[in-house]
Amino acid sequence: MKQAEKDAIPNRAGDLQRLILQAQQHGVRDQAVLTAIGQVPRNLFVPKDLAKASFEDTPLPIGEGQTISQPAMVALMAEASCLSSDDNVLEIGAGSGYGAAILRTLAARVTTVERIETLASQARTTLKQCGFDDVDVAVGDGTLGWPENAPYDAIIVTAAGPSAPLPLIRQLKTDGHLVMPVGRKHYQQYLMRFTRQSSNDKTPRVHAEKLMAVRFVPLIGEHGF
Ligand code: SAH
Repeated sequence: MKQAEKDAIPNRAGDLQRLILQAQQHGVRDQAVLTAIGQVPRNLFVPKDLAKASFEDTPLPIGEGQTISQPAMVALMAEASCLSSDDNVLEIGAGSGYGAAILRTLAARVTTVERIETLASQARTTLKQCGFDDVDVAVGDGTLGWPENAPYDAIIVTAAGPSAPLPLIRQLKTDGHLVMPVGRKHYQQYLMRFTRQSSNDKTPRVHAEKLMAVRFVPLIGEHGF
């Protein structure tokens, strides 16, 4: 990091500590997730003029009409995915790359798919800059998943769709979780956790749990809006 950037953020450890506290206030208890929130410099994943605001617990604009998710929500989604350190994880909606960095801190392998090329390329650069060289940032319609690296222990979708896309369920391992906001465009959305219960590939049996009311940008694609 350049000196000027360091000066702009005089107390990064304290700032990251604040993000941890905010995640705890939202009910996050998983110690590994809280540690990850304390390790990833969120300020580097937002436009430079928003670096200071990056330690507030809010979503922020990252260009192309998209947002970096609220850090407590990133933490809640990671916790709901029940990750283990050797897991293979898929994220849909790379955006800034921040969520992928948190996931890579918790799991062995992370693929993240983004439909907007410029965001994907910026996310790739930031992830490299922060030492997350081995996160696969792919460009495409994430509602189709990313079959090349499947099957996944967990899939996290960071945009809200009308329902759980079947290709994502098919790319999950049995007992794996798909954590995803589901609902209408821009309102009445719920964070859902779908658990694949059978190995039948055509129509896998799924257990659905409603976790909480949320608000996300729309998931746009063949199995989205
Ligand atoms: N995880 C991101 C959050 C980004 S917001 C972060 O930490 O910054 C959600 C992202 O999902 C947006 O960048 C949007 O472009 C992307 N998106 C929406 N529909 C998509 C689709 N079908 N496939 C891949 N990305 C999609």
